Amino acid sequence: MIKVNENFLKLKSSYLFSEIAKRVKKFQEQNPNVSIIKMGIGDVTLPLPPACIKAMHCAIDEMANISTFKGYGPEQGYLFLREKIAKFDFQKNNIDIEADEIFISDGAKCDTGNFQELFSQTIKVAVPDPVYPVYVDTNVMAGRTGEFKNGQYKNLFYLSSTKQNNYLPDLPNQKVDLIYLCFPNNPTGATIDRNTLQKWVDFALENKALILFDAAYEAFIQEPNIPHSIFEIPNAKKVAVEFRSFSKTAGFTGTRCAFTVVPKECVAYTENGKPVSLHSLWLRRQSTKFNGVSYPVQRAAEAVYSPEGKAEVKQNITYYLNNAKLIKNTIQNLGFHCVGGENSPYIWIECKQNSWDFFDFLLEKAGIVCTPGEGFGKCGEGYIRLSAFNSKENVEEAMQRIKNIL
Ligand code: PLP
Repeated sequence: MIKVNENFLKLKSSYLFSEIAKRVKKFQEQNPNVSIIKMGIGDVTLPLPPACIKAMHCAIDEMANISTFKGYGPEQGYLFLREKIAKFDFQKNNIDIEADEIFISDGAKCDTGNFQELFSQTIKVAVPDPVYPVYVDTNVMAGRTGEFKNGQYKNLFYLSSTKQNNYLPDLPNQKVDLIYLCFPNNPTGATIDRNTLQKWVDFALENKALILFDAAYEAFIQEPNIPHSIFEIPNAKKVAVEFRSFSKTAGFTGTRCAFTVVPKECVAYTENGKPVSLHSLWLRRQSTKFNGVSYPVQRAAEAVYSPEGKAEVKQNITYYLNNAKLIKNTIQNLGFHCVGGENSPYIWIECKQNSWDFFDFLLEKAGIVCTPGEGFGKCGEGYIRLSAFNSKENVEEAMQRIKNIL
């Protein structure tokens, strides 16, 4: 008899986006003349930067020629891309990361989801609340949690991010082994300063824990006191792995390219306390289960680091941040408390009522779709997330509609 992995049955149905779609469909059927503005999506709207398109075209031409054709690429990704990343994302900022510590992948979603495979079943896992759901669900699938009850899984340690702590969770008051951090945060848009991040690194060092640092929204950081990488913090290389992505940075959500930095000195331990290199384990895992990102896509990602690419990426980020500013100003002027939107494309708004009720209110009265905070965890109740990934015109129209009803 073929038996299922019953851990999958513990998963709370991922009803958030299907429930949103259901409610929007019903509203649209009943109100065919209302134009709906989707402010809930976490997907980019601007096309790829021209420098990336040009590089991709050239690479495709190479694939058409017998003398330049490429088959399987190197396991960790092409050196031309890893060298650019090491130089421009790290070494230029005095962070000592080498090209061979970088692993190119087809997404930070897969990497943040897969990395937990390297660890024992018995580790204690700490996740933010509200949370990017991948961190939680992949640990549920792996069998590290109990049942889902009252909005939380048994045996996970939840790092509450609330108005009271400025959306920066307190250090755990118990021993945990694996800690997921995401800054700039999805969904709250909150950021962490160097001193606070140093405390997390110190905690990990003291507890022989590991931090999985998701920096998928790093490109949106504008303020100088906000670290772009956890490796700006002394000794972080011993206790942290960092995930980055070209998705939100350069519009690669449909093109797929990301990378994970696993420093060579980063370790986990055997039952007997013997240190084991995570770099070796991740290389082994990736070369067994993953066959790389296509050559044209890696060439397109490389172009992000060209002078034209950098300027074009900056322009796109500024475009989204201007949208975010307009959303934040409008919402604050209406007397609502919110966070994010300055170094992040997301604005997290305290809606002073149940988040699904507020969702319905915005949809029915203004034709605006948001994301109810409850879908990101217990601490998300009473909040909604608005996204700046949209056209300027749509954001202006949406803010006008919101001003008319609030
Ligand atoms: N990490 C966070 C926090 C995200 O919000 C997202 C996408 O929304 C990802 C990772 C996934 O990025 P990718 O497109 O590289 O898989």
